[in-house]
Amino acid sequence: MIGEFELIDKIRAGVSLPDGYLGIGDDCAQLPERDAFRTLVSTDMLLEDVHFLRKVQAGCTGWKAAVANISDIAACGGTPKGIFLSLALPKDLEDSWVMDFLKGFGDACNRYGFPVLGGDTCESAGKICISVTVIGQCPNGVAVTRAGALPGDEICVTGCLGDSAAGLELLLQSAARVDYDNYFIDRHLRPQPRLAEGLALARSGQVHAMMDISDGIGSDLRHILKESNCGAIVDTARIPVSDALRSLCGSDSGRMLDYAISGGEDYELLFVKSKGAVVPVSHTVIGTVVSGSTLEWKGTDRNFKGYNHFSR
Ligand code: ADP
Ligand code: MG
Repeated sequence: MIGEFELIDKIRAGVSLPDGYLGIGDDCAQLPERDAFRTLVSTDMLLEDVHFLRKVQAGCTGWKAAVANISDIAACGGTPKGIFLSLALPKDLEDSWVMDFLKGFGDACNRYGFPVLGGDTCESAGKICISVTVIGQCPNGVAVTRAGALPGDEICVTGCLGDSAAGLELLLQSAARVDYDNYFIDRHLRPQPRLAEGLALARSGQVHAMMDISDGIGSDLRHILKESNCGAIVDTARIPVSDALRSLCGSDSGRMLDYAISGGEDYELLFVKSKGAVVPVSHTVIGTVVSGSTLEWKGTDRNFKGYNHFSR
């Protein structure tokens, strides 16, 4: 099958947009409004056994379904407007799963200020399918897109990368019972979207391009480079990882880089700014944008691609 991003490119090539709209290719679509604002919209699906397991606490799946979407509003520097939840559920699903899921989903929506405005519910012939659409808002000219990186810019990330991927690996290895006290599993199941940080970065006016890290920077950085027509050099030694991940991996630095670069679902922000520009958000500089189209990983002879549906 054609790769995920090739498929999206094909869909994008067949679409023409009204003036002032931003459509396929970024974390959110942008719709111009009559006043000085733009509406931001993003949608994401979560499929059982692809994005989550039924054995995992349903409340965590609900939390993550909301956060994966809210994170796209963060990636553009938006503020909350609302969220829609659509569910396809098998007839034999226990009520307790649904109630726990809704509790987790509602907790995240309340925590980050997104009222649930609607959705759809239907029966699934097999597995659980969750579809969420999120709406945000931004003053004109403030939203940051994936396009805009310039040669010489610094590539930056918030937080630490790779904990979520390590947590997923532990989850997949564990049998029916899941140890919820585990640091890595918690980081995988209860991600925190960088909503306040995205807003502060966008308002600073210093950020040329930004996105959230959902597929791992091995994939996500390529989206910024493609939209900005640039290449990059990333210094793998500078990629921020937690002390816990460093000690889990010990001397196996290759394993650590796999988690941090290819793993994904960190929901941190990846952004690009002029060299030395000051921004009001704590971050780590991991590399430099260069002209051309090559992405070089300094400090390793490996190449990293991140997650891409349909290609293994
Ligand atoms: P994210 O990880 O930020 O949610 P994706 O990688 O899922 O972004 O999608 C990249 C871009 O492609 C987004 O602009 C998204 O709206 C668009 N896109 C993905 N799938 C489709 C589709 N089936 N039809 C139209 N646009 C799509
Ligand atoms: Mg995104």
